[in-house]
Amino acid sequence: MAQNQLARKSLSFSRRNRLAALGALLVFATAYAGTPLIPANPNPAQDAGLSHSREEERAKIRIVHLKRLDDRINIEQKALQEHCRYESDISTAPPAKRIVLTFDDGPEPGQTERILDTLKKYDIHGVFFMIGAKMQQHPELVDKVNAAGHQIIGNHSWRHPNFHDISPGEQISEVSRTEETAPGNIVPRLFRYPYGNSSCETNDYLHAHGYRIVGWHVDSCDWSYDKAGEVDAKEALSCGVLPQFRKDFVGHVISALRAHNGGIVLMHEIHPNTLKKLDEIIVSMLADGFVFAAVDDPDFQTSLR
Ligand SMILES: [Zn+2]
Repeated sequence: MAQNQLARKSLSFSRRNRLAALGALLVFATAYAGTPLIPANPNPAQDAGLSHSREEERAKIRIVHLKRLDDRINIEQKALQEHCRYESDISTAPPAKRIVLTFDDGPEPGQTERILDTLKKYDIHGVFFMIGAKMQQHPELVDKVNAAGHQIIGNHSWRHPNFHDISPGEQISEVSRTEETAPGNIVPRLFRYPYGNSSCETNDYLHAHGYRIVGWHVDSCDWSYDKAGEVDAKEALSCGVLPQFRKDFVGHVISALRAHNGGIVLMHEIHPNTLKKLDEIIVSMLADGFVFAAVDDPDFQTSLR
């Protein structure tokens, strides 16, 4: 799509050599995955519906991850910054030993309630980045999260498209339609980009409307673990799960949180690993001396955009 046309780098010889190894890795990843590395024209129409199979959803996320990697290799950092691309990985350090949990892609019957129960058990604040069309389908769950007191409802677009594949006008409509759908007593003022794929136009719109944009320090990669709690090599490579954690979702999250000394964690209420293991992650981090904080805590403001 036209939105994607950023100037590719003109590479020096040494840079080419340096990138050759990365290229080989990507070729390996592609061959292993058995899917094209970067589709010439990812089909935004896929985003028109919300009901994807688990495999379809994983394939979409994998493609977005690999496209991000390809752009970071082949497009100058300055050009990416000028186009406000890929800003969702927070580069500033979080407040030491403080964790904020975030749950995307709900509300989801049966699952939103489970997350709420676990948070209540430990008196933890979380952020639920909801999809507008699902809020419309399940207003009772939106009310339930809101009534839970200190949980925050954030805007995660209307239908969860890749913002790099749709026009600025469509992007704005994704944000505003979700805001209009929220019950009158809820005014979302936090936004998270689907797939973390940001744009300058939406950044401007969000800031003009009083939003803060929330990325993450730690990606739980919950989507990449299968029912048996394992990640295969292609998903591990795509999401950054270290080999020793390919059968250990909890270990991956804990190790990433320790490495960052806390931070905002990206999770999804629609993925079974998060539902099953949230309790265990919380208990481990508390035992490690970490504290669960709220995203509107003053100490976390430098982590937001
Ligand atoms: Zn999402």
